[in-house]
Amino acid sequence: MLPSRALAYNAGVLTSAGQVWLLDPGPHPDESARAATLAVCLGSPVGLVLTHSHWDHILGPERLPALPVYAHVRFAETLTAHQVETLAMIDRWEQRFGYVRAAPFRPPHLAATFQDGQVFVLGDLALTLLHIPGHAADQVAIFVPTSGLLWAADTLSDTEIPLVSHRLDAYELTLARIAALPIQALVPGHGAPTTDRAYLDEVRRRVVRAISAGASVAETVAACATMVFRSPLANAGAHRLNVESVYLEFGGEADATQVGWAQDGLIDE
Ligand SMILES: [Zn+2]
Repeated sequence: MLPSRALAYNAGVLTSAGQVWLLDPGPHPDESARAATLAVCLGSPVGLVLTHSHWDHILGPERLPALPVYAHVRFAETLTAHQVETLAMIDRWEQRFGYVRAAPFRPPHLAATFQDGQVFVLGDLALTLLHIPGHAADQVAIFVPTSGLLWAADTLSDTEIPLVSHRLDAYELTLARIAALPIQALVPGHGAPTTDRAYLDEVRRRVVRAISAGASVAETVAACATMVFRSPLANAGAHRLNVESVYLEFGGEADATQVGWAQDGLIDE
């Protein structure tokens, strides 16, 4: 794990028998460079893996152009679907820290794409790539069977609550698949290792009950206001977006351009 000084973010390095993969290097430029330096120290860097297309996970490839980039087969379409917000977030990030770029951000060119369940050999390791949507439609996890390590991307986190910025039903299927793995350590994209899912179960229970009682989206948000989750001040906005998105997902009627993670003009961090 290579923890960032921002966003409780984790980049990573996977290595075996002199071969090295970089995972989501960044989000600061010096942190991408640090990951690349470490990779060279460990052996021969053979690729850069992007776990999903959210803005904070995709800044590495343009800084490390010599490395072939790998991501899930839905990466390009997912990034295209969220291009406006993604570019806005990258712009905001770079302005905030005074990073000057030589050319506009261009989506990473992928050398190859992953399918769900694909096994990828790195040195002596056979790594399993799992498609784990729910937080993002194109998200992948990397499972190392010999050590029980799961690099879980932004699935589960002890700093986020977590963020259901794709679909809750997909998130739940992802958790069911993960739960069946012999995991020894789960590394999230933000925060420290965790296996907490009680929050998602409670969101489902309350939203389903509210919809069956005919509640509006505002009433459903109110019904979820007493829920307990970590860092309540920092996570209040994300909690409301989660509830609104799940309300829409489960058939509640509301204007999807005004509520939830996919609403117009929403820029989340
Ligand atoms: Zn993400």
